[in-house]
Amino acid sequence: MAENGNASAARWHISRLPSETPLAAAGEQSIRPVLNRVISFVDASGPRPVLMLGGGDPTASACFRTAPEAEQAIVDALLSRKYNGYSPTVGVLPARRAIAEYLSRDLPYNLSADDVYLTSGCVQAIEVMVSILAQPGSNILLPRPGFPLYEGRTTFSCLEARHFDLMPDRGWEVDLEAVEALADENTAAMVIINPGNPCGSVYSRDHLAKIAETARKLGIIVIADEVYDHLTFGNTPFIPMGVLGDIVPVITLGSISKRWLVPGWRLGWIATCDPKGVLKEAKVHQSLENYINITSDPATFIQGAVPQIIANTKEDYFKKIIDLLRNCADICYNKIKEIRGITCPHKPEGSMFVMVKLDLACLEGIHDDEDFCCRLAKEDSVILLPGSALGMKDWIRIAFATDPTGLEDALERIKSFCKRHVKVEA
Ligand SMILES: *Cc1c(COP(=O)(O)O)cnc(C)c1O
Repeated sequence: MAENGNASAARWHISRLPSETPLAAAGEQSIRPVLNRVISFVDASGPRPVLMLGGGDPTASACFRTAPEAEQAIVDALLSRKYNGYSPTVGVLPARRAIAEYLSRDLPYNLSADDVYLTSGCVQAIEVMVSILAQPGSNILLPRPGFPLYEGRTTFSCLEARHFDLMPDRGWEVDLEAVEALADENTAAMVIINPGNPCGSVYSRDHLAKIAETARKLGIIVIADEVYDHLTFGNTPFIPMGVLGDIVPVITLGSISKRWLVPGWRLGWIATCDPKGVLKEAKVHQSLENYINITSDPATFIQGAVPQIIANTKEDYFKKIIDLLRNCADICYNKIKEIRGITCPHKPEGSMFVMVKLDLACLEGIHDDEDFCCRLAKEDSVILLPGSALGMKDWIRIAFATDPTGLEDALERIKSFCKRHVKVEA
């Protein structure tokens, strides 16, 4: 029948899209499908609430609430009626200037508004950078474990990803020998994430300098994902990679999502930290503009609020969030020490995450990290992220930015889960 003919996908040219596209592969490289698999094991009729320590959105907990000054800035921007129109594709000037000044506070030189491009969260900043670096035959060096969006974007853009390890017993520092072994004349850049997701690591100035020297020697620029800027609560302070911009050109990616706890506001940036003008000479700004001209922009009134958000947020707010994160990290680290079957090689000093290693040899009948997470979801209604989603099989990521009572409950459940599954010694 004609109608049936029309209803069948085979009738339409769209069905000729190959299923084995880079897009299909890229979609699989996201955290979501893995997390959804784990969540599907939860027994919804169970007596206890589900405790979600798998994702990276702390706003689900009432204690992780943004600063009232930031909310007011949005209201004021909206009511001013100045931001109802389109913005310039690179972002409105006052916001670019405010972010340039904000980042310059921690740098030995000043950024100008022209160094800053507004994006729809740090996610779009990653999309833009990977897209403009994707030339036929080129490659990019990514950390393992890392943030899978980099893998997804590189796969989609047909840019080759090469992975260097972060070393758990050395505070998750970059294995710089591996970086040297991986790089060649087609390597466009290396990516670092500091403070680190998923490891909770914070790099010392000394380590950042070594990264800079290595990158300089290899002739590759550094993309510094600093979306967790200033979210540090250990002994190592946050130092932006841009501090070493005279050694190596740095492209800094950031957003207000994490420090201000507003991932839904979708306001991020790309900043060129390049006091020697290398990126200008290489026409990187032109590429950035070209790409940004064909993408969408963050909502104009959010852009309009940025100068006030930055100027008005009080030190008290930042301190409160840091104290909360420190408390959560302490709870997590101390409890994990009591649990047989998982170990934490490095106490988190920044971001909102910690990586723990499964000791499968002492866990009865648990095959791997995903198996561990699925059973934990099923038996104890706790959601964790399998490390294999981040390139680290048989490790697990715990997102600890949640209310401390729920966190303690979750860790207690993990403890009893491990106790039930630990091998009885002969
Ligand atoms: C959360 C996160 C991002 C994305 O940030 P948004 O501003 O929410 O888009 C990018 N990189 C890392 C490492 C992150 O953890």
